[in-house]
Amino acid sequence: MKTIEQLEFDNSYARLPDAFYSSVMPQPLSGQHLISFNSVAAKLIDLAPTEIERHDFVDIFSGKKILESFHPIAACYSGHQFGHYVPQLGDGRAILLGEVKNKQGQKWDLQIKGAGPTPYSRQADGRAVLRSTIREYLCSEAMHGLGIPTTRALCMIGSETEVYREQIEKGAMLLRMSPSHVRFGSFEFFYYTQQFDELKLLADYVLENHFEEFVEAKEPYLALLKHVIGKTAKLIAQWQAVGFSHGVMNTDNMSIHGLTLDYGPFGFLDHYNPNYICNHSDHHGRYAFNKQPEIGLFNLSCLAQALLPLIDDDPSQAAEKAKAELEEYQYFFTGHYAKLMREKLGFREAHQDDQQLCNDLLNLMHKNNVDYTILFRQLSRRVDDDFNHRVRDLFLGREACDAWLERYHQRIKFENIDEHERSHQMLNTNPKYILRNYMAEIAIRKASDEQDYSEINHLLELLQKPFDEQDDCSQYANHPPEWAQQIEVSCSS
Ligand code: AMP
Ligand code: MG
Repeated sequence: MKTIEQLEFDNSYARLPDAFYSSVMPQPLSGQHLISFNSVAAKLIDLAPTEIERHDFVDIFSGKKILESFHPIAACYSGHQFGHYVPQLGDGRAILLGEVKNKQGQKWDLQIKGAGPTPYSRQADGRAVLRSTIREYLCSEAMHGLGIPTTRALCMIGSETEVYREQIEKGAMLLRMSPSHVRFGSFEFFYYTQQFDELKLLADYVLENHFEEFVEAKEPYLALLKHVIGKTAKLIAQWQAVGFSHGVMNTDNMSIHGLTLDYGPFGFLDHYNPNYICNHSDHHGRYAFNKQPEIGLFNLSCLAQALLPLIDDDPSQAAEKAKAELEEYQYFFTGHYAKLMREKLGFREAHQDDQQLCNDLLNLMHKNNVDYTILFRQLSRRVDDDFNHRVRDLFLGREACDAWLERYHQRIKFENIDEHERSHQMLNTNPKYILRNYMAEIAIRKASDEQDYSEINHLLELLQKPFDEQDDCSQYANHPPEWAQQIEVSCSS
């Protein structure tokens, strides 16, 4: 384990030409203090957890004290927002302090979100409010706990600085970690500004630093596209299987690594509703839960478009090759989603009728207002005399559930698996705990009203092990309270 000074930095993005970023100094907040530190994420960069005892810990990770090894920059990108191309976005409130290389040789960006204005802030203030910082901090670690690729969070810093949204709120900072923050929109920026040399440089940078296995490929840029298509399809299949809705799937929020990136108005399903729209500002439901797979394809098409000049000198050849790769998306997604849903149901082999059985369950859950997470957790318990009762009690129309359960029991028989083993596997597949909006809301209220951060740390610990029983916390595995329905989350953050 290392001190901050002992960390090995290699700021490779800052070595790219000026067109890629702007050097910019973070602007500290007033009355900065540490809210939470995530020792699990600290391990990723070999950082000793005792470093939080340093008097200058907050100064360093808020960018107030710039170490010699740092090279603060805001990256340049553009992207498609709600289907429309927006030519100039970029890190408007995020500043990359530098890139740490851990002892395994893995690279981690240390990026402060909410670090103050940058040349890409447009009219906005470069800040992040405490509320949205807590949500991203908790959710990124919850996703990791669920086994879903995501950016990570090292720590969260609070302040006395007032930030103006619909109301006055307190500013905060999140120290975010990711192998890189390159987005689909990073490529789109150079494509649409016709900076094709820079476009190639970015693709080469990504290949050399992150996907070395494709550098020697016959068509490395096509291999890159194929890889991102596969990763993204898999990621979105995982979102669908766990019931996660991202909320703002713009191409500037799509990671080239296939990680969940930029947590805003996200939401986990409570009762199963395929049309669930978590973002209160998404009036047309473009990013509704069941739209995510097709939006994934739209976003990948935007990335493919931006890569066309690199894929082949002949534009029609390039388009054809990209199209052929994009056509694989549906296949990857469907295959992966089907596999995940089979695992959720406790099926190890694929049977012809599995998809029907799964779809029928989802339809029943939708019609009967059944909680998605609770239902699958109940199915994971050992079959005993009360099994059917526990499951059917979750449905409004219980007879429909009985008929489905009968089919389910028939299907399980084919598995030829010991009942303990089946249950054990399913309990490690179907989480007991997810970050429901109301849970984040309780932590937010305690933090904002009472400067009490205990709930944040409590939830962090709980959600890092979402499959464990953790019986003393089982109230969080129940249905959400009535007041949760009033919570509205929007893009404002
Ligand atoms: P998001 O929807 O959070 O992914 O943000 C979209 C774009 O708006 C990105 O370029 C952000 O950097 C920028 N942005 C969002 N909020 C702010 C803010 N408060 N200050 C400056 N830029 C912001
Ligand atoms: Mg964003």
